[in-house]
Amino acid sequence: TASGGCQKIRGAQLQELLESKHDVLFDCDGVIWNGETAVAGAPDVVRALKQRGKRVFFVTNNCTRPRQSYVQKFARLGFVDVDEKEIFSSAYCSAAYLRDMATFSGKVFAIGCPGVHTELRDAGITVVEEEEDGPDVNISNCALDPDVRAVLVGYDEKFSFMKLAKACCYLQDSECLFLATDPDPWHPLRGGRITPGSGSLTAALETASSRKATVIGKPSRFMFECIASRFDLDPESSLMVGDRLETDIVFGVNCGLSTVLTLTGVSTFEQAQVYKDSDEPEKKDFVPDYVVESIADFLEALEE
Ligand code: PLP
Ligand code: CA
Repeated sequence: TASGGCQKIRGAQLQELLESKHDVLFDCDGVIWNGETAVAGAPDVVRALKQRGKRVFFVTNNCTRPRQSYVQKFARLGFVDVDEKEIFSSAYCSAAYLRDMATFSGKVFAIGCPGVHTELRDAGITVVEEEEDGPDVNISNCALDPDVRAVLVGYDEKFSFMKLAKACCYLQDSECLFLATDPDPWHPLRGGRITPGSGSLTAALETASSRKATVIGKPSRFMFECIASRFDLDPESSLMVGDRLETDIVFGVNCGLSTVLTLTGVSTFEQAQVYKDSDEPEKKDFVPDYVVESIADFLEALEE
């Protein structure tokens, strides 16, 4: 096989690749759906893979929903057979990281959407309640909770100067953990707009605290370990399918998986080739093994 070969495949070659793998990990946005629209054929691909005895997992850096809400989204978009246990989001894995860390006890100050707060609570972790600050409250007199032992940053449409200020106060204690759900810089919205991602908020807090966050989401290996600890997973027989070179493909390379870039999302074939042709050796981690136009191409390969 072509490791880091950036090879466009379909038909018989794709069939051969799929036959050689037992587990398929799919990124979500840009791979199986775009916002609220399923990628054409994606529900059939998931069904066909399962019919052939493959296991399918969903690995998303989107921390905004709890797992149960993803189950509903899958059903709404026509995926009839997706189980909560197959879904690994950066919010769920961040909560699992804190829960399973033997040395962690205390409260978490979380910057993030309700999805982050729900996953933390479901994992039995105490989250500092967000209070509406009164008119006389400012950055020098706001209350800080003395039991906070971790700060977790994720996508937050209600991000504020006050949250940033509180978080960097907590991080002055070097014993306080600093976690980020994911490093995503931005995400495409409809109509050509973009929204800043968790990574941009994390960068603000890294600057304010002079510290570096531990990233839980892709490209960090932790999400793969999270799946592997629940399901017996062999990297050699697993395939990572993603649309973003800097997160999904690097994740696959970091975990020793074969990688497929699909062109229904953020990254282009040309960008993959720029990484491939680069003289800098570390850029090779951004090069997928294979490239498909869409995961709909899997269907043809599975039917042949
Ligand atoms: N985080 C947020 C807030 C998003 O809106 C998205 C995509 O829409 C993502 C992360 C990326 O998700 P994925 O890893 O499934 O591409
Ligand atoms: Ca994606």
